[in-house]
Amino acid sequence: MIYDLIIIGAGPAGVSAAVYAARQRLSMLIISKDIGGQVAKKAVDIENYPGFDKISGPELVELYQKQLKANNLEVTQDEVVGIEKKDAKFLISTKSGKTYEAISVIITSGASSRLINVPGEEEFAGKGVSYCSLCDGPVFKNKIVAVIGGGNNGFESALFLSNYVPKVYILEYGAKTNADQENTELVAKHKNIEIITNAKVVKIEGKVFVESITYQDLTANTEKTLEVKGVFVEIGYIPATTFVNGLVDLNNKGEIMFDANTLATKTPGLFSAGDCNVSKYKQIVMASGEGAKAALSAYEYIKKQSIIKNHYE
Ligand SMILES: Cc1cc2nc3c(=O)[nH]c(=O)nc-3n(C[C@H](O)[C@H](O)[C@H](O)COP(=O)(O)OP(=O)(O)OC[C@H]3O[C@@H](n4cnc5c(N)ncnc54)[C@H](O)[C@@H]3O)c2cc1C
Repeated sequence: MIYDLIIIGAGPAGVSAAVYAARQRLSMLIISKDIGGQVAKKAVDIENYPGFDKISGPELVELYQKQLKANNLEVTQDEVVGIEKKDAKFLISTKSGKTYEAISVIITSGASSRLINVPGEEEFAGKGVSYCSLCDGPVFKNKIVAVIGGGNNGFESALFLSNYVPKVYILEYGAKTNADQENTELVAKHKNIEIITNAKVVKIEGKVFVESITYQDLTANTEKTLEVKGVFVEIGYIPATTFVNGLVDLNNKGEIMFDANTLATKTPGLFSAGDCNVSKYKQIVMASGEGAKAALSAYEYIKKQSIIKNHYE
């Protein structure tokens, strides 16, 4: 069987693409390692998704599952390991050894945050340790927090957080921060942001919630502890794009380059949406929007392909 469309991933971008594609009556296969993606890992509430004051990750994933079922959509649980394009068809191979064919493909394989891998990070994830200041920042109103990472992500996080909190520490491992000039100047104007360089984070501690972060001062070679209620890890993302086999252009972080209007990649018929893309803001609402756009663009592409096919048959 040749599907009209294969969607890789079932996080917000994949689910949204699937719902839009179902409304266009496309024959479709969704292949994903799980349902919900990063949302399924969100232990605390999501407070920036339209229509909901608050919804937890597992609750939103349950709604995704209901909506997929209502549209007669099933997720084939597997991992995509390769994509090829042959004779105007895509061949998708999976870890379980299967190969599927489709006219068009949407990649929505997302990303994962880079971890600092120190004691306390995993224990306090969702209890003071966050990987998304835009998502969780307002919860830390009036509390002292630390941002790990002195690049643009770290600086932008600190600037956002400085609207809510009395003090933000930026901890940078290197001797110098590496944010761009604009962010550097903006941070310098904020008296409640303090940059600490040569700081190697050693541990995060607390009882139920985070209470402190300890770092090794690499210059003085001593350990120092800061009393903070929040630790924002901003050392980048790892996009899940290792299986794309040269069919798309990637930036230096491995994120997929795409056309912002259509979500098309450089290979006709291959679209990409959500956190696996170059997009600056990694959020549920953005991933969902991109998924919807990609599905409509894939529909246009598939329609054109079947007109061409019928014309020559
Ligand atoms: C702890 C945490 C809290 C967050 N809080 C918020 C918040 O409050 N508000 C907000 O807007 N955003 C939040 N975010 C960000 C938000 O979750 C992401 O922006 C969003 O999930 C991106 O959706 P996506 O579909 O692009 O990717 P993902 O959610 O990463 O989903 C990717 C999907 O692809 C699958 N996949 C990956 N590789 C393969 C493969 N090779 N084969 C098959 N399947 C594959 C995965 O299993 C997954 O199902 C949070 C993120 C984290 C980590």
